[in-house]
Amino acid sequence: MTSPRLPATGRLDTPRTDVCVVGAGPAGLALTLMLLRSGVTVTLLERSTALRRDFYGEILQPGGQRILDQLGVLAAARAQGARELDRFQVLQDGRPLLDIDYRRLPPPHNCLLALPQRFLLRELLTACRELPGFTYLEGHRVHGLVREDGRITGVVARRQDGASTTVGAHVVAGADGRHSRTRMLAGIDAGRREAFDQDVAWFTLPAPGRATGAVRVHRTGAGALLVHDTHPDRLRVGWTLPHRTWNRAAARGIEDIRRELAAALPEFADLIHAHLRSLSDLTLLDVFAAQARRWTADGLLLIGDSAHTHGPVGAQGINLALQDAAAAHPVLLDALAAGDTGRQRLLPYEERRRPAAATVHRMQRMQAKALLGRSGPAATRLRSRAAAVVTRSRLGGRITRLVAHGPDPAAVRTDLFTTPPPAPAAGPARSRT
Ligand SMILES: Cc1cc2nc3c(=O)[nH]c(=O)nc-3n(C[C@H](O)[C@H](O)[C@H](O)COP(=O)(O)OP(=O)(O)OC[C@H]3O[C@@H](n4cnc5c(N)ncnc54)[C@H](O)[C@@H]3O)c2cc1C
Repeated sequence: MTSPRLPATGRLDTPRTDVCVVGAGPAGLALTLMLLRSGVTVTLLERSTALRRDFYGEILQPGGQRILDQLGVLAAARAQGARELDRFQVLQDGRPLLDIDYRRLPPPHNCLLALPQRFLLRELLTACRELPGFTYLEGHRVHGLVREDGRITGVVARRQDGASTTVGAHVVAGADGRHSRTRMLAGIDAGRREAFDQDVAWFTLPAPGRATGAVRVHRTGAGALLVHDTHPDRLRVGWTLPHRTWNRAAARGIEDIRRELAAALPEFADLIHAHLRSLSDLTLLDVFAAQARRWTADGLLLIGDSAHTHGPVGAQGINLALQDAAAAHPVLLDALAAGDTGRQRLLPYEERRRPAAATVHRMQRMQAKALLGRSGPAATRLRSRAAAVVTRSRLGGRITRLVAHGPDPAAVRTDLFTTPPPAPAAGPARSRT
């Protein structure tokens, strides 16, 4: 761990910035854009180039869509390619057990959106680039924090050519994801818990003309399979398998896996046989829950997955990451205006968002047990009764709103913008393509 002290002369490789954001994922880019629109200077460091990412989640709940609309980027991101999904359904042996209709929510954000993350990130970055005070350092991997008198005052990053860059800042925002280096360097424990019994192996299949318009969980003998439409004309499938058993599954070989999955999803068996060719077509997600012990320190704040990580059930990660950014934005402006970025000043952000993340953790544990767990006939009957209540009762409506917008949904404080976003589009297009 490197913790250099910034020389008294303040020797820096870039001009000192108000806020240094680490990580250009949904959390980091959204926060950067909000701060730039409020007249704050921001240096954003991202280890990858060209926003290249391994597969990351792309189901965007209405709460996240609302934030992106408030930032004026949703319509342009959607225009690059997205799929609208009206329903969340759980099927037991092909028959609907649970059916949640997102069209019951108030428009315009009344669907789930399968939006490839690269489209979303590209639009956020384009909007940042149009504003003054923005420095983007891509291909910069943060590996050290700068400390002065015990407080964090910058970061040290290694460029791809091996050279080092030091960025000084009044405050550092760690938005570098589930294995956050910033959090580790600050000595904050990730608070990882093995809260789920399943990992997920993802793959996609070309499926022109086979759109389902839904996110479906198929409960089958092969475990639960998540299936949804994705851009362009594909289906994304998430195969849940018992936690940490991937190596055993992989040892069976692709032919065996293909046969099992095709039998479990007969309506897509032809696609699976034709297109699932090798183990490298599958991407494994190690599913865990985490809640960092602290989200703030003197000169530091953590947002998104770096502060709290969630399982894939209920697609909450992007929603929460964007709402963290919205909640951190006014707190950072207040701290900068006061010239005090100590922990006490940043704490209102942590105090607001920590309970929301904890509620989602509780919800996901229950959902994972109810939706994904293997079971005998008695548990299946119980599950079926509970699903009927959720599908048909008013409680179902409340649960849908909670899942769609998250607990204590944060809105963007556009009143704090000095440069307003471009006028919002007339409303999202309703096409499925
Ligand atoms: C396979 C998978 C499926 C998922 N499905 C969904 C879903 O359908 N819906 C949903 O809402 N959520 C889903 N999630 C979760 C969701 O992707 C995350 O919650 C969300 O991306 C968190 O955003 P973030 O900005 O906090 O972190 P990230 O998206 O992880 O972004 C962190 C960024 O920091 C950069 N970075 C990391 N380390 C450094 C460093 N040392 N220096 C500089 N940069 C660094 C990374 O390159 C990355 O760009 C899924 C996650 C995975 C892995």
